[in-house]
Amino acid sequence: MRLPPGLSSKDFSDALQEFEAAVGKQWVFTSDEDMDLYRDSYSPVWNEDDEPIPSAAVAPDGVEQVQAIVRAANKYKIPLWTISTGKNLGYGGSAPLLRGIVVLDLKRMNRVLEINDKNHYALLEPGVSYFDLYQYIHERQLNVWIDPPDPGWGSPMGNSLERGGGYTPMHDHFDAVCGLEVVLPSGEVMRTGMGALPGAKTWQQYKYGFGPYVTPIFSQSSLGIVTKIGIWLYPAPEAYFSGTVNVWKHRDLIPLIDVFGELQNAGIVRCGISLGSPFWLGAPHPEFDSMRASGSVKPLEDYAERKKMPYWSLPLSFYGPAKVVAAEWEYAKEKFSSIRGVAFEDGASYRFPLSDEDVARIRDTVPIGIPSLQIFSLLPPGSQGHIGFSPIIPMSGEAVLDAMAMFDRVHQELGSGRAALAVLGSFPRALVIIDLFPVERNVEHNRKMRELYRRLVQESAARGWGEYRTHTTFMGDISNTYSFNNHALRHFHETIKDAVDPNGILSPGKCGIWPKHLRKENA
Ligand code: ADP
Repeated sequence: MRLPPGLSSKDFSDALQEFEAAVGKQWVFTSDEDMDLYRDSYSPVWNEDDEPIPSAAVAPDGVEQVQAIVRAANKYKIPLWTISTGKNLGYGGSAPLLRGIVVLDLKRMNRVLEINDKNHYALLEPGVSYFDLYQYIHERQLNVWIDPPDPGWGSPMGNSLERGGGYTPMHDHFDAVCGLEVVLPSGEVMRTGMGALPGAKTWQQYKYGFGPYVTPIFSQSSLGIVTKIGIWLYPAPEAYFSGTVNVWKHRDLIPLIDVFGELQNAGIVRCGISLGSPFWLGAPHPEFDSMRASGSVKPLEDYAERKKMPYWSLPLSFYGPAKVVAAEWEYAKEKFSSIRGVAFEDGASYRFPLSDEDVARIRDTVPIGIPSLQIFSLLPPGSQGHIGFSPIIPMSGEAVLDAMAMFDRVHQELGSGRAALAVLGSFPRALVIIDLFPVERNVEHNRKMRELYRRLVQESAARGWGEYRTHTTFMGDISNTYSFNNHALRHFHETIKDAVDPNGILSPGKCGIWPKHLRKENA
């Protein structure tokens, strides 16, 4: 039997008995077969000695049960790793960060507690998936949209707490969070924002409450177990329109991003984006990798011209009243027209509500708020999965070109045999550039991949770019780069961690923050 770090088998079996008393025997899992289900199937350390396979998993069905588990964890100093639906693939899935940690699996707590379709918000338990939420709203014909990420099998809880994103105007998922209920490491239940006021009428309507605003300290965090989350939803719009802006030269990216950034900051473009070059997104062109590896732009531009392919394509989506949507696209086109040779393509255009037959004909439903698993069909055949290296870079074409050149150089130097698979997404005021790394069930491949990843972490940090989120394997590496003034931020995080979770029972190592007793050996 695997054991939690530093625990005797006697203490562990006593603790398991307490977990069983809290949730019922059938909801405490320890068999190898069950633990296999909690392995991260996209793990970059698959089958290696330090692959973080848990020792047990416990699945409560309510806040009181969570509290009882936390009390037992404190008594025996057992670290718990909280997951909601555990579909966080690419970032660790349902596996903990260290071998032997107990997974606290909240997927049984899957109640939609409230949907308000006049003020447009939801109050949810952790195990509600995007599919569940969509279904709930659809069945009741409520006047709200959700913003699923691709893929949609995870939860608004997990994805929002991890600061994930989607495509509709609510694409910044943590920004849409309004009010949490949290079981603290002490076992006490706390509500944030207006929820601290007993009988509050605006828990999901006003974020800040009174005094220091603490909701954000529970995102990407090991300070609490969130048992309820308020999220703002989008009022079901009348219309959707997508249009693509195509440009033809390498450096056209610079004005393209400048105009995009201005439109976004002005609130005219409100969608999440996925920007790349048709060269390497979708159908990769065989000649492309070698041309890009040469570092010279001219052959690429010639190639694009020969194939009549745009060099950069920026798809935009617009949501709202049909009149407004049309006017926004017209205005956007006017602004992008300052780029020589720019061409515009009209894409999908819908008026809502759509019938189920209409929806069934749409290939990519995620941008219209309907969760799907279609993204998995884009993975190359035989793929075991991928993880993303995703630094935040400035909203500028120069930064993107600089990042891509650096990514390509590192790939070449370390002999990855490919160019970077870079895709851009946007946050308010900043871009994220994502290099997708294939993972394999092959120790040697994964070792090389980790080396490459870590070089990119270093080179990015040297340019002032840091990752916004990362796989558990690299959390320490990324945290090390946020080192201003001798790691002042980490010291602050550790001070809070020690005060709030003195026994270090919650998600040790999450984002590079270790409880005191595990700090030295893992720092
Ligand atoms: P999803 O439900 O989207 O698949 P996960 O359940 O995999 O997301 O959770 C992703 C990460 O978010 C977890 O590894 C954990 O660190 C954090 N997390 C998820 N749910 C909670 C929660 N209820 N409370 C605190 N942290 C959570």
